[in-house]
Amino acid sequence: MGSRDGQIGAHRNEGARRSDELPALFVVVRDPRSLSVLLADLSRRFGHDFAVSGRSTPRAALDALEQMAAEGERVALLLVEGSAEEMLTRAHELHPRAKRVLLVDRDYSATSPAVRAITLGRADFHLVRPWADDEMMYRAMSEYLSSWTREQEPGFELFRIVGSEGDGRIPQLRDVMTRMSMPFGFYPVESEDGRRLLAEAGLDAARLPVVVSHDGRAMADPSMADLASAFGVKIDSDIGECEVAIVGAGPAGLAAAVYGASEGLDTVLLDRSVSGGQAGTSPMIRNYPGFPHGIAGGLLMERTCEQAWLMGARIVFTQEVVGLERRGERRIVTLRDASEVSARVVVVATGIEWRRLGVPRLEALVGSGVHYGAAAGESRAMQDQNVFIVGAGNSAGQAALHLAKHARTVTLLVRGDSFARSMSSYLVEGIESTANVLVRHRTEVVDGHGSESLDGLTLLDGTSGRTEDVPADALFIMIGGEPHVGWLPGEIARDAQGYLHTGDEIREQSGVRWPCEREPSILETSMPGVFAAGDVRHSALRRVASAVGEGATVVRLVHDYLSKHVDVLPTDAAAA
Ligand SMILES: Cc1cc2nc3c(=O)[nH]c(=O)nc-3n(C[C@H](O)[C@H](O)[C@H](O)COP(=O)(O)OP(=O)(O)OC[C@H]3O[C@@H](n4cnc5c(N)ncnc54)[C@H](O)[C@@H]3O)c2cc1C
Repeated sequence: MGSRDGQIGAHRNEGARRSDELPALFVVVRDPRSLSVLLADLSRRFGHDFAVSGRSTPRAALDALEQMAAEGERVALLLVEGSAEEMLTRAHELHPRAKRVLLVDRDYSATSPAVRAITLGRADFHLVRPWADDEMMYRAMSEYLSSWTREQEPGFELFRIVGSEGDGRIPQLRDVMTRMSMPFGFYPVESEDGRRLLAEAGLDAARLPVVVSHDGRAMADPSMADLASAFGVKIDSDIGECEVAIVGAGPAGLAAAVYGASEGLDTVLLDRSVSGGQAGTSPMIRNYPGFPHGIAGGLLMERTCEQAWLMGARIVFTQEVVGLERRGERRIVTLRDASEVSARVVVVATGIEWRRLGVPRLEALVGSGVHYGAAAGESRAMQDQNVFIVGAGNSAGQAALHLAKHARTVTLLVRGDSFARSMSSYLVEGIESTANVLVRHRTEVVDGHGSESLDGLTLLDGTSGRTEDVPADALFIMIGGEPHVGWLPGEIARDAQGYLHTGDEIREQSGVRWPCEREPSILETSMPGVFAAGDVRHSALRRVASAVGEGATVVRLVHDYLSKHVDVLPTDAAAA
C-alpha cells in the first residue's frame, strides 16, 4: 500500500456525495501497516461523511496538507501519532480549524507528548492505543468530529449586543452571557450591522449598550435584573423561610445546593449575579476530574445549576445579600431589595473577587496557556518552556521556584522597583540563586498573542516607556484577590485579609469568642449555624474541585447540626 512519499492509499468512500466535497480526516502514523489498518477502520465508520486519508511520514503529511490548503480543501481532523507531534504547529497554521488529536500509548508517563501538547493547547484531544475494541475508538472519534461539525454551523445568536468597544459595560454583558451559555454576537455601534440592528429596534445610539433578543425585543442599557429576566431566570424572592440558605452560586454554593436539595433539605440558593462564580468565567478548566480535555467553566457551572434546580433547590439570582443576623435559632439573611430569608442554617459561599489583568486577548486565552492562580499542577508540562509570572507576592515566588525545576526560563514580571517587601526573604534568596529565574522590575504585560494558545506577550518597560514583544509559552497571573465578606457581621471571625476562619481555626484566634460548649464543626464559622465553603475560607485550596468538595461536605455537617444541636442564641439586639 505504501509509496515513495509515504502516502498510503486514500480510503475514500465514493458514496452518495463526491469525496472531494467531503471534509478531510487526515492520519499520520509512521508504521505503514498500522496506518493502512487504521485508515480502513476509519473509512468504514466515517467514510460516508469524511474523506479519510493519511501519510506515514511527517514530511509527506505536511506536503499533502500544504497542497490541500492551496486547493481550499477543508480538513476536519488531524489524527497524528505522538512521535510526530512537532508537525502539528505547521499543520495548524495551514488548517487552523482542524481538530488536532494525538495518538499516544497509554504509558501514563509525565514525558508523554500528550501531557505537554494538551496543557499548552497544541492538541485538542488525545486517543490512547491500543483500544479494547473498535467501538471505543469510534466513540471518541465521533465526539471529536462532531465538535468540529458544531463549529462549522453558522452561529445562532440568541442575543445581539450593540455598543462601543471601549464601553466598560460590554465585558460585563459578555461575562453574564457566557456564564449563562447564551449564544451572542457583538456589533460595534459604528458598523453597518450595528446601525441596522438599532434602526430595526427603533432605537438610537443615545443609550448604549443595546441588547436585542432573537425575537426582536430590545433593551437599552439593561440592568443585571433585566438581563436575568430576559434569560427567564427568577429574580424576585418570595421565599420567607427555608432550612438552608446558601449565599453564592459558584462551584461551592452550587454543589451545596445539589447535595442539600437531593438529601431532602429545603434549600435556597442566592446570588447577586447569575450562577457560576469565578469558575463560570474561565473559558477552559483543565483540572476538573472527569474532563481530560477540559471543559468550559460556564458549561460546567450551568449544568450544575440545572442539577440543583432539578433536585428541588429554590434559586434566586441578581439579588445581592447585604446582611446576616441571628434571631434565636433562626439565621436571617437580608437581600438588596430589603426582603428577608429566614433559615435554620446559612452557608456562606461568596468566594473572592480575583484581581484581573484586564487585557482582553489574555482573558480569551485563559486555560490555553494563561492561568489565574497556582501553578503546581502545570509544572511538568512546562518542560523546556518559556514561562512568565505576573506578581510579587509569596505565591508568585513559590510558583517561580517550582516552575524553574522544569521550565527553560521563568520570568517574574514585577510592576514596582522591588519585591523584597512583598515576598519572604527565603524566596527572594531562592530566586536570586536560581539561574533560570529572571526578574524584570517595572514591567507590565499590556497584550498577548496567539489564536488557540498563548505564544507571545507584549511587555511595557515602565522606565523607558518602550514596549517589547517576547515569545511566551505560558503566563501565570498571581496578583491576588479579596474575599466577598463585607455583608457579614463583625462577630464572624476572619483573618487580616478578610478570609473566614472555620472549625479549629476559631479557637486559635485571640479575642474570638465561640459561644457554645460543643466544638465548632470543621466548616462552621464563629457564628454557630453559619457555615462557610470554598474560596471565602481562610484555609481554602482555591480550586474548582476543592470548592465543589467543600460544598458537598458542608451539607453533611449541616445535617449533623440540624439533628444534634440547633443553637438558640440571643438576637443581636438582646445580645448587645
Ligand atoms: C479566570 C479564572 C480562571 C480559573 N481557572 C481555574 C481552573 O482552571 N481550575 C481551577 O481549579 N480553578 C480555577 N480558578 C479558581 C476557581 O474559579 C475558584 O477557586 C472557584 O470558583 C471558587 O469557587 P467558590 O464557589 O468558592 O467562589 P466563586 O466562584 O468566587 O463564587 C462566589 C459567588 O458568590 C457570589 N456572591 C459574592 N458576594 C455575594 C453577595 N453578597 N450576595 C450574593 N452573592 C454573592 C458571586 O456572585 C459568585 O457567584 C480560576 C479563577 C479565575 C478567576
